[in-house]
Amino acid sequence: MKLKTFVFNPIQVNCYLLWDETKEAILIDCGCLFAKEKMQLKQFIEVNGLTIKHYLNTHLHFDHIFGNPFIESTFGVKAKANDADWKWAENISERVARFGLNYTEKISYPEQVLHHGDRIKFGNQTVEVIAVPGHSPGSLAYYIPEQRMVFTGDALFRDSIGRTDFPDSNHQQLIDSIRKNLFTLPNETVVYPGHAEPTDIGYEKEYNCFVR
Ligand SMILES: [Zn+2]
Repeated sequence: MKLKTFVFNPIQVNCYLLWDETKEAILIDCGCLFAKEKMQLKQFIEVNGLTIKHYLNTHLHFDHIFGNPFIESTFGVKAKANDADWKWAENISERVARFGLNYTEKISYPEQVLHHGDRIKFGNQTVEVIAVPGHSPGSLAYYIPEQRMVFTGDALFRDSIGRTDFPDSNHQQLIDSIRKNLFTLPNETVVYPGHAEPTDIGYEKEYNCFVR
């Protein structure tokens, strides 16, 4: 299994590309906003001869979905996600303008609405969908048990957790999600968050003072 991390847009979102020996790949949260970022991603995928089987969003906050129209038009795959955050994607231009950025593209409704317990396959890998609501109501984590990897979006970060100051966020729900659905994974599971560097479940259980 191979993993390449890209960091895109002024909000520095981690975009993850995973593939195995079959060259089938998945993408998670392509926040590519600028032409240079899109070219970088496209070239990497082409040079490595990868086929994008699935495109997954951890949630639909704009910084994680800027690249959705590009992924759709370039690789022919629409995003799979939970739809509880849909209103964030639906009027993305308006929300983005408040941050002083210009965005005029339209986001497609998820081609598959994912729920806790769903499974997604690519190559010889299975991804399990884990609900982690709180930062946003539709937040999901993607867990690959055989690889001991979990992609947590903006739910869990190294030494931190997601913001819950948005109108549809819920702080207690986020804490409960992390305790119940992430801290029950094996300690050695590596956590790949939506921003900043990776960590692992054991470390966060021990040291993350927001969840203890
Ligand atoms: Zn977010």
